[in-house]
Amino acid sequence: MPMPIPLRTRQALLGPILLAALALAGCDRDTPDTETLNFFAFGTIVDITLYPAGAYDLEALESELQAELEILHTSWHAWEPGSLGRTNELLALQAEFSAPPSVLPLIERGKEMEALSDGLFNPALGKLVAAWGFHQDEPEGPPPDAETLEALLEDPPSMRDIERNGVRLRGQHADLQLDFGGLAKGLAVERMLDLLQNQGVEAAIFNAGGDLMTLGRPADRAWQVAIRHPQGGILGSIELDAVEALFSSGDYERGYEWEGEHIHHVIDPRTGRPSEGVHGATVLHSDPALADAAATTLMIAGPEEWPHYARKMGIEAALVVLDDRIEATPAMAERVRMEDDQPALEERGLP
Ligand code: ADP
Ligand code: MG
Repeated sequence: MPMPIPLRTRQALLGPILLAALALAGCDRDTPDTETLNFFAFGTIVDITLYPAGAYDLEALESELQAELEILHTSWHAWEPGSLGRTNELLALQAEFSAPPSVLPLIERGKEMEALSDGLFNPALGKLVAAWGFHQDEPEGPPPDAETLEALLEDPPSMRDIERNGVRLRGQHADLQLDFGGLAKGLAVERMLDLLQNQGVEAAIFNAGGDLMTLGRPADRAWQVAIRHPQGGILGSIELDAVEALFSSGDYERGYEWEGEHIHHVIDPRTGRPSEGVHGATVLHSDPALADAAATTLMIAGPEEWPHYARKMGIEAALVVLDDRIEATPAMAERVRMEDDQPALEERGLP
């Protein structure tokens, strides 16, 4: 994830970039009543669309958001030097230390998500993610050999191997390495929207490469957004209300080809290999961190078990893209409008 840099400011970026990012905020394109700030962060284009246009000091907002993004970037990055890197070094020593404050909320939420997902979502498995070639800006093979995988899976670390006493932490597993790639974006989005709210912003939508979160809504409408198909193009659209996050995880997000196989970045702790069967998962919830972790978890859970984990994590609205069909919970099916060229959603009730 390269450093966040401002891309362009004060322009309603319509056309290719908007389509790529898939937030179709602002209905009347001729006279937009919103304006958008663009950044590059979390390895993706981030845009923040504000309503109403003309109401805010964009320069001030931009520099504040920029500063916050830079801090989060260096604090939470999984392989560049920073607070999380330092925390990983200290955890590996297995002696008590005072954690940098910025990583504590990640650890807290990470423990919670691991417990809720029965360990399918496990941010302590950074070594495994790194072994698959994902701890670099351009992921690449070779994938780990059988011996390496076996060693990593024999006694895998868990978030429970971090003992926490206030701000004091102690690692209890030699292989423990934190990687919050499946959660940090959700927490960052929450921060950015807090910041906007504190600045008196009435309504905004935050779009980090197709992961979305709203704050308020324009006076006369909901936020109209598109849901990306994991294999490209658009799957459908949905209207987001005042405080809603829509997060997706997909097997074509980040990856590389190896001997005819597509190796992607969501690793199933049960097999130690990239997850199979669910090609994409999209989750709607008011809590962006939960939505982020849950989308990753539903990918890993697989075609049979995803409804079980949705229920367990408190997710009512989710959809998953399988080999031959797209399934959705009733709450999600009610809200999504599928594109004409897509199959009808198949409803799957939560257990
Ligand atoms: P994106 O960042 O594209 O939105 P996800 O939210 O699905 O994708 O997060 C994928 C990231 O989560 C991986 O790059 C890796 O850092 C991390 N990760 C991979 N497997 C797991 C897992 N089993 N548990 C927790 N985090 C994981
Ligand atoms: Mg995620």
